[in-house]
Amino acid sequence: MNEQWITFANEIKQLYKKDIVPLHEPTFDETEIEYVTDCVKSGWVSSVGKYVDRFEQELAEFTGVKRAVAVVNGTAALHIALKIVGVQPGDEVFMPSLTFVATANAATYLQAIPHFVDVSEKTLGLDPVKLEEHIKDIGEMKNGQLMNKQTGRVIRGVVPMHTFGHPVELDLLIEVCGRYNLALVEDAAESLGSYYKGKHTGGFGLVGALSFNGNKIMTTGGGGAILTNDDKLADYAKHITTTAKVPHNWAYEHDEIGYNYRMPNINAALGCAQLLKIPEFIEKKRQITEKYGNLVKGLDGVRLFNEPGNTRGNYWLQTLVLEQRHSRDAILDFLNENGVMSRPIWTPMDELEPFKNMPKADLTVTKQLKNTLINIPSTPLKVK
Ligand SMILES: *Cc1c(COP(=O)(O)O)cnc(C)c1O
Repeated sequence: MNEQWITFANEIKQLYKKDIVPLHEPTFDETEIEYVTDCVKSGWVSSVGKYVDRFEQELAEFTGVKRAVAVVNGTAALHIALKIVGVQPGDEVFMPSLTFVATANAATYLQAIPHFVDVSEKTLGLDPVKLEEHIKDIGEMKNGQLMNKQTGRVIRGVVPMHTFGHPVELDLLIEVCGRYNLALVEDAAESLGSYYKGKHTGGFGLVGALSFNGNKIMTTGGGGAILTNDDKLADYAKHITTTAKVPHNWAYEHDEIGYNYRMPNINAALGCAQLLKIPEFIEKKRQITEKYGNLVKGLDGVRLFNEPGNTRGNYWLQTLVLEQRHSRDAILDFLNENGVMSRPIWTPMDELEPFKNMPKADLTVTKQLKNTLINIPSTPLKVK
């Protein structure tokens, strides 16, 4: 690698004051220890306790979405989100091919079929204009329901994903959903603290899903949440994520097949402490963006991904955009060998063994981006 990249790697190590800089680490202080200790001392570490209710309430307040239901992880949140909007076995669900595998997995848990569509270079997320072009190609409305003419299946919904915390063009997408009667379920796993036209992501569709895995902007160890403005959907989500048990002082009555997806109280305690710091995490991430912006000026044919218009992103993961002439793999090898942990974007879903025969649209932008995006260390810096 040339001098430019050597300088770049060294500057990142200086920024973090580390010889080996991880991609993303959780940030804790005394608050987390205090909350978790309190939870352990109370004895209520598992399926009952005050922190779960508190975490759900505070999440709803923070996001401005009416209700939040805390669950064991983001994948479970997506699974339940798709179920409660009425996705049936054999239905198709539009989603970007360029996403983390959980988006596609969640649909298959309901015996539904992921239908992969392309992303926009501007947002890195689902492109509503290309989606509508594709619908015009393969779809037809029958009894108010969008059908795939090629497969004969109902297309029930669409799951946009806000890549690395950058919201998709939600206004346009909402219009498309309205025209074709598609249920909108946001995979907001990466976008806690990200806003589109001043409104928090996850509350635009019928339901949204958050993740609090260890590598996300905040963590509960493992965890997720279902967001919705609809009380009925929220109550139903709560019911089926808690084994569908009918409330009673002592009887075990379950009125349908439920899931044991409830977030344990000890994880919620960690979550309450982390949620307090989200504004600070976001501010620090924006500081890193500024610093990286300057460092990247020293690299030919590379730019730092910047938030698209109408959005204020959380900059969960910082992203380099390489010109096509670069060898992504040579750059990844160099950075990782030199202590700067870096990762490519996910292998597109349509290339993965379990999904390679699923229906898909033209994926030109996806195929271009998969070789040109690199995530670099993004933990909030300790010093201002
Ligand atoms: C992290 C993530 C998920 C799933 O979250 P888990 O908590 O790990 O199950 C889903 N979708 C996307 C896009 C993610 O990044």
